[in-house]
Amino acid sequence: MNYRVSQRAASLSPSLTLAIDSKAKQMRAEGLDVVGFGAGEPDFETPAHITEAAAKALAAGFTKYTPSSGIPELRQAIADKFRRENGLDYTPRQVIVSCGGKHSCYNTVLATCQDGDEVLIPAPYWLSYPEMVKLAGATPVVMETSDRSEFKVTPDQLRAAITSRTRLFILNSPNNPTGSVYSPDEVKALGDVCVERGVLIMSDEIYEHLLYDGAIAKSVATASPVHQAHTIIVHGFAKAWSMTGWRLGFLAAPEPIAKAIDAIQSHSTSNPTSFAQKGALAALTGPQDHLKTWVAEFDRRRRYAHQQLSRIPGITCCTPRGAFYLFPNISQTGLKSTEFCARLLEAEKVAAVPGIAFGADDYVRISYATSMDNLEKGLARMDRFVRALGR
Ligand SMILES: *Cc1c(COP(=O)(O)O)cnc(C)c1O
Repeated sequence: MNYRVSQRAASLSPSLTLAIDSKAKQMRAEGLDVVGFGAGEPDFETPAHITEAAAKALAAGFTKYTPSSGIPELRQAIADKFRRENGLDYTPRQVIVSCGGKHSCYNTVLATCQDGDEVLIPAPYWLSYPEMVKLAGATPVVMETSDRSEFKVTPDQLRAAITSRTRLFILNSPNNPTGSVYSPDEVKALGDVCVERGVLIMSDEIYEHLLYDGAIAKSVATASPVHQAHTIIVHGFAKAWSMTGWRLGFLAAPEPIAKAIDAIQSHSTSNPTSFAQKGALAALTGPQDHLKTWVAEFDRRRRYAHQQLSRIPGITCCTPRGAFYLFPNISQTGLKSTEFCARLLEAEKVAAVPGIAFGADDYVRISYATSMDNLEKGLARMDRFVRALGR
């Protein structure tokens, strides 16, 4: 048998984070005390009223196919969320429930991009974006940013990167991996360029609710009805409700795009898990008290971790204003990110994610979705590691 895989599958980059991750797991299995800073999910439990709603639906036999884009009451609740929290009007038909925010992103790219199209992605980026673009047959075009500009692209940079082939611009604020948050003015200015040039925007707003220091995250779609007409908002339940394993995301899009995504879902995954959707409905319509507690706890860790990192000679770090990551610059150590992380794991048993996975080799990602104890221990070890490099 010839096991030739398709060109598209072969074009995907292997996950660079995997090597470090499997090494860390192996070390743990050997009984070593490894501190993990790699978490891409909150370390809190899904709130009980959400799990109870799903368990109740399951017990009541809500176990059959639903409409492929989600149950009507959940699509309505999502439309209500956009009205209530963002001042945006969407009909339930413009709302699609997907199997995770990642699935929402992928289907958006698949529904809007094709061979010959270019997709603009600011680096550092969430590592799946370029691969999704390749799977759609389009070409990812990376726009470099650095900590000097808080990892933000400027309208001029965006304008200069747009060609006649540009179809989509991917905006992720608050950002994974940097924690950067674009101000409402900055978001609008980028949106203006896209509107002027007829480029669609995929706005990944999954960290919308995780903000610190009074930062404001405003969707580009709120700038004007024309901006909204150029935007697909991608969102999900994973981060603000700690539901990563539930695989539930959602999006809001202009109707022709929502319709195309519905068609894609109906022929690929069909509906997201029926009883999980009932949990998501409870997440949106129930109390949101947990969020204040979580944000306060993340904030406490963020401040502590940023302060500790900033004390390490040769390490500099922007102050993140959202999400739950720090993205320190390690270039003064003389090491690139993969070697830095491999040696940090080897010498001090601390697992961080190399920035190269996000298209930024001078940085590493530290997640503070872990306990204060772990942060104290891991950052002290990292301090010792960098000092021992002797630069
Ligand atoms: C976590 C995350 C998502 C969505 O994750 P799902 O688990 O698929 O819901 C989307 N975008 C970014 C930037 C993320 O970090």
